Amino acid sequence: MTSSRFDLRGKVAIVTGGNGGIGLGMARGLADAGANIVVVGRNETKSGAAVADLSQRGVKAISVPTDVTDQAAVAAMIDRVVKDLGRIDILINNAGMSIRKPPHELELDEWNKVIDTNLTSAFVCSKLAYPALKASGNGKVINIGSMMSIFGASFATAYAASKGGIVQYTRACANAWAPDNIQVNAILPGWIDTDLTRGARQQVSGLHERVLARTPAGRWGDIDDFAGITVFLASSASNFVTGTAIPVDGGFSVMA
Ligand code: NDP
Repeated sequence: MTSSRFDLRGKVAIVTGGNGGIGLGMARGLADAGANIVVVGRNETKSGAAVADLSQRGVKAISVPTDVTDQAAVAAMIDRVVKDLGRIDILINNAGMSIRKPPHELELDEWNKVIDTNLTSAFVCSKLAYPALKASGNGKVINIGSMMSIFGASFATAYAASKGGIVQYTRACANAWAPDNIQVNAILPGWIDTDLTRGARQQVSGLHERVLARTPAGRWGDIDDFAGITVFLASSASNFVTGTAIPVDGGFSVMA
């Protein structure tokens, strides 16, 4: 029964940044496999639209407005999920942002904002969700890295540091939580068409064409490209896969 390995019916998944972009693509994949979804983000209008989209797929979806850089708010969110939905099986640490400046121009508060949003939030959410993930008996954590987990770029000062850090954090958690049957993996997106990169394309002339030329698949990624990998890493199909960092990049990271 191959299909049952990917069956997520009855599971509860938290997706930070699940109200748009890659997070929504992942949430849609999980919902289509039967998981109930908790959308975590700050923009309540976007989160309401995402909940409507996910609910149409026949699962329970709720929004818990939360700033993931606020530890007390994350703790309240986790408590509410356990109280209202009874369990947490899957945590996706996807919320992220970038401030594009070279190292000598980036201010300390800008550095802290990027690190807090992209890296420290994954630590806080994972630590606070850990008791429920352990209690689920087969918990899954998926952290979102980037091509900047592998490569560098002059404008990606704090962003590259945060995304390199997320891979090493993933490996530490994979080791620590293997005895609890919790698998922890990272996904490294290539260039994906979202609000984040639409901004970059407006700021950086020629970026659109450079990405097309540098990506063997010859296209930008779409948020739907994240559904399959997410269901795999969230399901029992991946129970012997942990501590990995899997590029979803149309070949970007293997092009010489
Ligand atoms: P979007 O800007 O479309 O989405 C970012 C999401 O993060 C939004 O849902 C936003 O929700 C949420 N978010 C940001 N800050 C916070 C916060 N403090 N608290 C709670 N939620 C927050 O970008 P993408 O979909 O492109 O990015 C998603 C992830 O993928 C990020 O980690 C990004 O670094 C990574 N990535 C993206 C790539 C791409 O090409 N697009 C490439 C490589 C990695 P809200 O505003 O409502 O809070």
